[in-house]
Order: sequence, then C-alpha cells, then structure tokens
Amino acid sequence: MSTISVADAGRRELGSSFTGELIGPQDDGYDAARVVFNAMIDRRPALIARCADVDDVAATIRFARERDLLLAVRGGGHSGGGFGICDDGVVLDLSLLRGIDVDPEARTVRVGGGCTWGEVDQATHEHGLATPCGIISTTGVGGLTLGGGLGHLTRKHGLTIDNLLAAEVVLADGSRARASADENADLFWALRGGGGNFGVVTSFTFRCHPVSTVLAGPTFWPIEQTPEVLRTYREFIGSAPRELTGFFAVMTVPPVPLFPEELHLRKVCAVFWCYSGGADTVDGLVAPMLAVGKPLLHHVGPVPFPALQSLFDGLYHPGLQWYWRGDFVSELSDAAIEQHHAFGEALPTMHSSMHLYPIDGAAHDVASGDTAFGYRDARWAEVIIGVDPDPAKAPAIRQWTVDYFDATHPHSAGGSYVNFMMDEGSARVQATYRHNYERLARTKAAYDPRNVFRVNQNIEPRAA
Ligand SMILES: Cc1cc2nc3c(=O)[nH]c(=O)nc-3n(C[C@H](O)[C@H](O)[C@H](O)COP(=O)(O)OP(=O)(O)OC[C@H]3O[C@@H](n4cnc5c(N)ncnc54)[C@H](O)[C@@H]3O)c2cc1C
Repeated sequence: MSTISVADAGRRELGSSFTGELIGPQDDGYDAARVVFNAMIDRRPALIARCADVDDVAATIRFARERDLLLAVRGGGHSGGGFGICDDGVVLDLSLLRGIDVDPEARTVRVGGGCTWGEVDQATHEHGLATPCGIISTTGVGGLTLGGGLGHLTRKHGLTIDNLLAAEVVLADGSRARASADENADLFWALRGGGGNFGVVTSFTFRCHPVSTVLAGPTFWPIEQTPEVLRTYREFIGSAPRELTGFFAVMTVPPVPLFPEELHLRKVCAVFWCYSGGADTVDGLVAPMLAVGKPLLHHVGPVPFPALQSLFDGLYHPGLQWYWRGDFVSELSDAAIEQHHAFGEALPTMHSSMHLYPIDGAAHDVASGDTAFGYRDARWAEVIIGVDPDPAKAPAIRQWTVDYFDATHPHSAGGSYVNFMMDEGSARVQATYRHNYERLARTKAAYDPRNVFRVNQNIEPRAA
C-alpha cells in the first residue's frame, strides 16, 4: 500500500466517527505535525492520527494492527531516539488529550496522556502541590512517566512512577483497561518503568505533595576542579537530607544575563541544587561542597516550582540536534571521575553536557522487583548529551558522546535509564531491565502478543 493510500484508507475507515485530526503527506500541516524534539530525527509517516478521545485511540490502534502497519505513539515527542514518530507507518498522536483535573483535598491530579509537565506543574502549583517529574517543562508526561521519571523531587518523593496511582489504558486489541494496585496489577507493575510497550495510556492519576516555592540554583567550579568536586559530591549527596537534591554536571556556562558576563561560555563543573524543606537558605546544608576548591558562583534562591521546571527550556528549545547515551552508576570510582574531567574539558559545543541525577533517598524505599524499573540500587543515572543547533556538528557531537560513553561505561552498573537511551538494541534493553526482563516479556505476551507497540525500547513478547 503506498503512503498516500494509507492516508486515504485512514480517512475512509476512521472517517466520520474520528473526532480528532487525520493528517497525510499531502496535507498542509504534515511537516509541522511530524517534527519531534530531536532535530536529528526526520521521519515521514504515512498517516498521523491526532486523537481527541479514547475511541479515536482505539480505532487508530485497530486500523494499524489490521494492516500490520508500524504504529508509533507520540506523547510529548521528546524521546532521544524519536520513538514518537516512524517512517511509513501510523503515528498515534496524543497531543489533543490534554485535560488536567486536580483534587486538592485528595492531593491527586488526573492528567491526559498527551500533556506536558509544564501544564501539570502550573495546574498543581495553584493548589501549592507538585508531583515528581523531570526538569524541562516541555517533556511529555507519557514517555517520562512510563520510563520511570527522575527530577528535582526524586530524593524526597521518589520517581514519578512511585507517585502513579492509576492509568487508563487502551490495549493492543483496542479494548480498555484500568491499571492500579487493585486492578490489573500485573499491567500496573509493567507500566511503571516498562515504557510504551503495554498500551496507550490515555490518562494518568498521580499523588501530589505540598511543594510550592523551593530554593534552587547552581554552584559552578572551574572545570579543572572536577576531580575534587566529584570526590566530595559522591560522599556528600547520599548523606544529605532528602529535601535537598543536587545533580552534577560538566557544562558550558550559557551566555545569558542570569550569569556574570565573565563566566559566559566558560567550561565548568556544577551542582544544580533544589531544596524543598523549611529552611530559608541551603548554604549551611551544602557547606561541605562550598568548601571544595574555589567556586566561581553560588547562586541559590527562592523559585516557584513551575518556574524552576522551565528554567532550562530556553537553552534546550525544540530544533536542536541531540545524541544521547546513558548508564546507571552505583559507585563513582576515581577512574570514572578522571574520565568525567577529561571529557568535560573536551565538551564539543555550548549545549553539550553530562549530568548525574541522584536516584537514592525515596527512590530506594521501593524494591527493584516492585516495579519494572530494575535499577533501584543504583545511585545515579548518568546521561551524556551531545547537543547543537547546527546539523553540520552532528558527527562531532555524536563522536564525543560515544567516546565519553565508551570511557565511562566500564565503571557503570550495567544498564541505563530507558529514557536516556537512543536506539541501542535489544541486548541493552535487557541489561537495563535485568531481573525484571523475563516478567516484562511474559506481561508483554499477555497484553501485546503481536508486538503492536514496538516503536520504543522494545520488550519482545515471550509466553511463559
Ligand atoms: C530536553 C529533555 C529533558 C529531559 N529531562 C528529563 C528529566 O529531567 N527526567 C527524566 O526522567 N527524563 C528526562 N528526559 C527524558 C524523557 O523522559 C524522555 O525523552 C521521554 O521519553 C519523553 O517522553 P515524551 O512523551 O515527551 O516522548 P515521546 O517521544 O512522545 O514518547 C517516548 C516513548 O513513550 C511512549 N509514550 C509516550 N506517551 C505515551 C502514552 N501516553 N502511552 C503510551 N506510550 C507513550 C512513546 O510511544 C515512546 O515510545 C528529558 C528529555 C529531553 C529531550
């Protein structure tokens, strides 16, 4: 079937009962509708079905399945590997499913499957509440949650999945299911870390916490001080109170008015702090870190939580080239620290960076087998991002990222956070889920035996 005939067939078959939008290659708006966050990804689907309700979602899944067409499910479109889009197949786009319903009494929020985190943060903030999520407001709730969800509130309140109470799901056969601790518990277990393998989540219900204004901001040190800063940081962060978190970065100071001009474009190592406790300064709490080397800048102050969540949006706007690699880290060895220093000195572009996100504290209160997220015993999720606006720099950022990964991977715990990976193949996916993989493969066989949902970090169905 040609690409045009898939679009035509979609219109004929989904036609009048489809309440969203059907967009084919010949339609105005097709090119805008197929753009994803990572500009390195340029794919041309045969049909984009922008679903407006659960019936649209079910009809789109059936349409793709009956024709054996590749089906990509798009939440916020942020995945590094571009899993929200595909060549020649059907894209099930959730961006119209954007309802948000906060229950301030129960401290919960119900969120449409196509929302972005910025929208959720704004809605919960009106009630002095927040749910743990990532650090960029334009990221989709769907992909981030289904992979696990790491961010500024992880040490205090756990991963995003630890705050997921229920999910409404459309399954591979087009039927609907609700997943929670009491309903379809096997599906609920798999959704919490297993990615988009098990169905299309049309709504998520999360627990919220009283979080309103936090203390946040960075400390920068010269890049040459990376070894001493990291050696202190590896001991410091694990014993810090849970209200305090700080992700470590090697980075270049962006040339923005927020930072003194003399630091603009300087390579630094940094800890970006966020404190959600009652004190009015973090300086006493982070004193052991401030005593290391000679900080170039320490700038931590009160920020409303949604403002913190969109602080990096201007730097990491849509349209940049991204190359990703990641690893879980249990021990930050001296040998690994040497590599972080060397590759920090060699940052290829202003946007390129490496972050170490703590996953201890409340994230360690849940056992590795209790959800699909298999690396509860790791202490950090490392992500290496080669990023630049210029497509001509793509080979250079890719090379730096791969070389950095090759140098640090031997010091890692083995697998990676699925949301920090591109398409690295099935052995890597298995390493990432490790002891949980067999159970995930059986659950996949129960809910999606034909692997309809395979444009993702794929778990292949394997019956018991
Ligand atoms: C700039 C940037 C910053 C980031 N920061 C963080 C961070 O702080 N913490 C963190 O944990 N991660 C972070 N990430 C990684 C992010 O979690 C992943 O990229 C995630 O996959 C994005 O989800 P999405 O819905 O936007 O992406 P998409 O590309 O739309 O989807 C990603 C995957 O999830 C599936 N999916 C999405 N929605 C649904 C749904 N409703 N039902 C079923 N399947 C679905 C898709 O099919 C696809 O396989 C960041 C990514 C970027 C680009």
